[in-house]
Amino acid sequence: MTDITLAPIQPDQPSHLMATYGRQAISFVRGRGAYLYTEDGTEYLDALTGIAVCGLGHAHPVIAEAIAEQAATLVHTSNLFEIPWQTAAAQKLAEVSGMEEIFFSNSGAESNEGAIKIARKFGTQQGVRLPKIIVAEQSFHGRTLATLSATGNKKVQDGFAPLTNDFIRVPFGDVEAIQEAALQHPDIVAILIEPIQGEGGINTAPQGFSYLEEVRNICNQHNWLMMLDEIQTGNGRTGKYFAYQHTNIVPDVLTTAKGLGNGFPVGAVMTQGKAVGLLGPGSHGSTYGGTVLGSRVVYTVIDTIQKENAVENAAVVGRYIVDQLRAKLADKNVQVRGFGMMIGIQLPKDCAELVAIARDQHKLIINVTAGSVVRLLPPINMTQVQADDLLERLVTLINSYL
Ligand SMILES: *Cc1c(COP(=O)(O)O)cnc(C)c1O
Repeated sequence: MTDITLAPIQPDQPSHLMATYGRQAISFVRGRGAYLYTEDGTEYLDALTGIAVCGLGHAHPVIAEAIAEQAATLVHTSNLFEIPWQTAAAQKLAEVSGMEEIFFSNSGAESNEGAIKIARKFGTQQGVRLPKIIVAEQSFHGRTLATLSATGNKKVQDGFAPLTNDFIRVPFGDVEAIQEAALQHPDIVAILIEPIQGEGGINTAPQGFSYLEEVRNICNQHNWLMMLDEIQTGNGRTGKYFAYQHTNIVPDVLTTAKGLGNGFPVGAVMTQGKAVGLLGPGSHGSTYGGTVLGSRVVYTVIDTIQKENAVENAAVVGRYIVDQLRAKLADKNVQVRGFGMMIGIQLPKDCAELVAIARDQHKLIINVTAGSVVRLLPPINMTQVQADDLLERLVTLINSYL
């Protein structure tokens, strides 16, 4: 074991880190399931899970063992060779998604870059010289140049011109706006949307998941690719393995990351139907994509989600949390929305300060997004007892705040 001990960070200590994050002055040294611990042993209930990443909870013993064993055996050989764990991980992902082809990447943004390349290739093959993709307002698709251009948030784009001009923006959930765009832009080849907008504030479409069915119909009608960004909503988060499985449709292109590795950096872009075969030899690649270690993690995460019935658990316990919140906060001016373990509580005012109050006074880790939405992303395998613990802390917090 290592004999290096790191000195605790002093608040005013100069650091060599680029100042890209507004960090909270706390660090965790250990985690177990739904709980995080600081050096002095203080326990925090984690309703954020590293931003929808550690869906199976922290330090899951099965995942930890797979990582340790594979790290001590073989980590990486490159995509110049066959990688049986990558083939097996793809098989698993195909099984849970209904998709046909899978390309492994290392992050969400990188998966969406793959999707955007697929859309461009698709368009180019149809003879569209400068293919366009419809995206939604308040969307989040990542921080690379193409994905920040797709993102519907000015703050993400500010100062990074020129943006790529692939994208045509419509209000989320507005089918007429899509049809309108189709009339104006003959060069549209695809739509890219999140089934539920995560960073945007846990936004569900006004018509619910039938929005996805309507989008599927429009895509069929115009011969566009339907592309879903399930970076956050995937891997059991909403109470189905992928959120589109709340409907009967299947997208042509699907991206995921976050919960796919339970904290290990992996992502995937998947295709089926008319999107299959667009990226052939030499057209895409990633040195780290689908390493032996990463692929074994993906395989093990999906296998563990299945064996623990974690997706069904997310549906049942998530429903319980939403129902309880609605009942217990009924006299407050709040709106509770979301599916499974992706829950937003819309407060009547900006509430960014709740993050610190929850942490310091209730030992509860939450997030506030879109200014006034408390965002809960607990582990998808959270137990009923832990959910009651969460509710107790959260209801006390919100009651004393409003
Ligand atoms: C987090 C997220 C991304 C970006 O993922 P990174 O791994 O941070 O690049 C893209 N789309 C959605 C919907 C996300 O939630």
